[in-house]
Amino acid sequence: MGDLMTEHDGRRCARCREHKPRDQFNRDSYERDGLRIYCRPCDRAISAERYAKKRTELCANSRARYWRNQALKARENKPSDQF
Ligand SMILES: [Zn+2]
Repeated sequence: MGDLMTEHDGRRCARCREHKPRDQFNRDSYERDGLRIYCRPCDRAISAERYAKKRTELCANSRARYWRNQALKARENKPSDQF
């Protein structure tokens, strides 16, 4: 193994750039060392942001669908005596 500085005592969060002990990081099996690159508070903030964003997107989508349906309905209900 290399003689590079190991971070047994902690790691730096990729978001807040703070050096924190390893127990401040959630586990992530996708990461090479098995820990998240973000500390717990940042991790939470990120997922909260993601959730909020997803919720607004979903909201916007359903609103768009609602108006599309309304438009379709209006077209269907239009009397055919226009010709
Ligand atoms: Zn952080």
